[in-house]
Order: sequence, then C-alpha cells, then structure tokens
Amino acid sequence: IFPGSTDAAGRPATLGVLGGGQLGRMFVHAAQRLGYFTAVLEPDAHSPAGLVSHHHIQTAYDDPTGLAQLADLCQAITTEFENVPADALRTLAQSRPVAPGAAVVAIAQDRREEKAHFTACADVSRVTCAPYAVLETPEQLRAVPADLLPGILKTARMGYDGKGQVRVKTTDELAAAWTELGGVACVLEKMLPLTAECSVLVARGWDGQVVSFAPQRNVHEGGILAVTHAYDGALPSALADRARAAAVAIARHLSYVGVLCVEFFVVDDGSEFGGLVVNEMAPRPHNSGHYTIDACDASQFDLQVHAMAGLPLPQPRQHSPAIMLNLLGDVWLNAGGQLREPDWAAVLRLPGTHLHLYGKVEARAGRKMGHLTITGPDVSSVRAVAQRAAEVLG
Ligand code: ADP
Ligand code: MG
Repeated sequence: IFPGSTDAAGRPATLGVLGGGQLGRMFVHAAQRLGYFTAVLEPDAHSPAGLVSHHHIQTAYDDPTGLAQLADLCQAITTEFENVPADALRTLAQSRPVAPGAAVVAIAQDRREEKAHFTACADVSRVTCAPYAVLETPEQLRAVPADLLPGILKTARMGYDGKGQVRVKTTDELAAAWTELGGVACVLEKMLPLTAECSVLVARGWDGQVVSFAPQRNVHEGGILAVTHAYDGALPSALADRARAAAVAIARHLSYVGVLCVEFFVVDDGSEFGGLVVNEMAPRPHNSGHYTIDACDASQFDLQVHAMAGLPLPQPRQHSPAIMLNLLGDVWLNAGGQLREPDWAAVLRLPGTHLHLYGKVEARAGRKMGHLTITGPDVSSVRAVAQRAAEVLG
C-alpha cells in the first residue's frame, strides 16, 4: 500500500489504528508524514490520536458498525492499545491486513499465555521468565510453593503501568491480595533482585524481514516508566546483544508482523553479564521507544507504518545519544496538589530538548501527559541536560 496512491474509487491510501491514545497519535504523525490519510477508532471524543487524524470513528472498540467503517476506509489496520479486544482485530482481518494479528495480541494480553510463549521459545531466545505460578482457583492458591515469596501478584489480564499488581511477602498476604484483586485469574511471580531493566523494539514485516533497535535501559518509579537511557554504555554490551537477539527470536517465533517491544529484567545472579530475564511484551510501539523519534533516522512509529503497509523496513540508525523523561500529570501539580503550568521556557532553553505533549487536557497524578527527549553530541552533555531538565520540572 503506497502512500499517496488512490484506490479504484479515487480514495486516498488510508491507514487505520484501533485506539486513540498517545501511541496512536505518534503513529498518525508518522503515517501522515509519509503521505497517508489516517483513521482512528476510539470512543473518547477528545483522544490524543482522534484529534490529529483525518478520520475519527467515535465508537466502542468492538462496535460492529465502527469496525465496518474502519475496514471500509483503510487499506491496512494496526492497534496502539494492547487491551483492545482481540476479536475486533479478528473481525477486521476478515477484510483487511491487520498487523499485529489477533492471535499474537491475544497472547500478549494474558500473562499466562505470554509466559507460556516465552517458555516455549526459550530454546531459541536463550532467556526464561521469572519463576511463577498461575492462580485461578483456591486450590492453586493453597498449593503455591513457598519459594515464590516474596512475590508480586499480577492479574493475568488488563494490567499496565503497575496497575493490577500487589506485592506480597507471606501466604496470608497473598490470599488477601488475591481477594483484593477480585479473585480473578492471576500469576504470582517471584520478586527478583533487579539490577536494571531494559527493553528492545523489533519490527517484522509481512515477508519476514526483521529490523531492531539497540536495547535501552529503563527506570521505573511506582511501576510506571520514568526514564529511558538510550546510548552506548547504558547497558553492558554483551547483555545488550543477548537481549536484542532474544527479542528478535521471540518476534520470529510468533511470526509477528508490526512493532513489538520486549521488556527484560537484569538480575544479579553472579554471572559475568548478570542474568537476563524476560518480563513481558507489548504488541505495539512502546513508551521506552519514544526517544527513537528524535534520536534515530527512523522511529518506532515509522517502522510500524512501514511494516503494516508492506513497505521495506529500514534498519534504523541512532544518530545521537538520548535520554527520555516521561512527563506524568504530577509535573502539572505543585506540592499542595494544585494545578500549575510547568516552566516550558526554562526546559526549552536547554540544548537538545525535544518536547512532546499528547494533547490531554486534564492533568492527573500518574497520567502520561507527554515526554521530553534530550539529544546531544555526547553522553555526558545529554546526562547534564537531562539532570537540569528534571530539576526544572521537579
Ligand atoms: P506492567 O504491565 O504494569 O508494566 P510489569 O510486570 O512490567 O507490569 O511490572 C511493572 C514493574 O514492576 C516492572 O517494570 C518492575 O520494575 C517491577 N516488577 C514487576 N515484576 C517484578 C518481579 N518479578 N521482580 C521485581 N520487580 C518486578
Ligand atoms: Mg511492564
């Protein structure tokens, strides 16, 4: 599907996305830059992506009329929101190419299936996930091995940004936490002594071509990504090579089409490179890859567009070291919880700062409002500016 082309009825080449959040917005920006028209299906009238797209179909994600409209308008469709009903993707796939497909999105939506997949391809990825147990019944709760504690109880479905998780130390706390989470299907994961976290973005085309970005190191606060470090030396190079190879193997094993993010834990297991443990995957571009917009010659969103539309996938080249700071709603709140306007002038005066705001009107604590990427000629100047920007925003 070439940008700028028209169909038999003279309608312009249009790409569609299910979901209207910030990832959809940045996808729309990338698609439009190439010359595509765009359509967003999203129930919210004021969504970040809906506001910038040529078409906004304002229905529920599983609304048959909305889905039919999206399929009619678009030559290919993607998703930006991993909890979009996999059935909606299945419906769309009856008439249009959909990338990623319903089957892989369904795996990524359920921690049980996700871990089963990681385990199934451990031979090729050479990484395993944290020790865990599936909790669906009171019998399984009673049978939990003691060595999984202290652990983190996570709902099998619908969790993100640390939501749907409870940290537990004892079997009593575990039982209480399971009740607190509503007794839904969960996984209990052993709490690992993390020394770092990292993620890898991979893009795979319909023809099996694979390209990837170098792994980036991520710092989370309260279960939410806070900072991404993307430069040589952010991770030991042998570890980075292993993570990148593992992510590519995982994407290949899924016959994935589109952009996939695989998240890893780094555990100090006494081995030379530290132990690499696969955590989870997101079937879409990822917050930890936002720096690619400003620091690489093709961004994760460019690759999403190329992959779904069947264009050749460029191997991206990072031209600048980068640090990304997430801008949560908290930046808009003063110590007393009152709204204030952050001092953007002070931020933008700093060299190499790239501000991205998502067009969300209401700032709330923990809400992703935007991000700031800092690029520069070398790592030490990027670090210094990031430090200064964090102080200004603090
Ligand atoms: P989410 O879907 O909310 O991103 P994650 O499973 O990635 O859920 O957990 C969020 C964060 O919590 C991780 O990035 C990590 O910092 C911490 N965490 C999750 N699982 C573990 C674990 N088994 N051991 C130690 N820390 C963990
Ligand atoms: Mg995560």
